[in-house]
Amino acid sequence: MKNRMKNDLEKIILTENEILNKVQEIADKINHDYKDREPVIISILRGATLFSADLIKNIELKLELDFMAVSSYGDSTESSGVVKIKKDIDTDISNRDVILVEDIIDTGLTLKYISEYLKKHNPKSIAICSLLDKPKAHKIDIKIDYVGFEVGNEFVVGYGLDFAQHYRNLPYIGILKKEIYS
Ligand code: 5GP
Repeated sequence: MKNRMKNDLEKIILTENEILNKVQEIADKINHDYKDREPVIISILRGATLFSADLIKNIELKLELDFMAVSSYGDSTESSGVVKIKKDIDTDISNRDVILVEDIIDTGLTLKYISEYLKKHNPKSIAICSLLDKPKAHKIDIKIDYVGFEVGNEFVVGYGLDFAQHYRNLPYIGILKKEIYS
């Protein structure tokens, strides 16, 4: 089954080892930056699940984990710019240090919307942590506090990232063959 999915990839761009080493590096930075604090980690469903799970395993702070789900691309690969909250957080984040964990930043519209929405709950701080970033695709200025890897504008899948809900379970990240989604 995994081999069948692998055949749908043009190439693997990040191996499991490269990803896990980077996740450890990000966790080390967070451990340092948030020393003696108790952050609330908000993982954005569903793409950030694998990343946030591996990340928090390496964070040595007392923390809380919560989830938010927003609508993204549906089964298409084009950003609609329309963001809708499908699942809100259950944690009271007022006066708390929040770390938003995302899989990938493309146009930046999703995270902008989410962080503006969360600011209304008066957190002490909000930091943005994304495993991947597509800097050439940004449509707005967005400050990313922790970023794993910069990638090009190709459509990538694996390690939580899907196409039409598939490929999330690949432990590595690859570029999907164009013929699969066009
Ligand atoms: P943005 O609002 O920044 O344009 O879009 C962010 C969301 O789009 C991500 O959370 C992710 O769900 C989706 N997305 C953007 N680029 C890719 C990609 O290359 N692969 C996958 N699987 N999803 C992507």
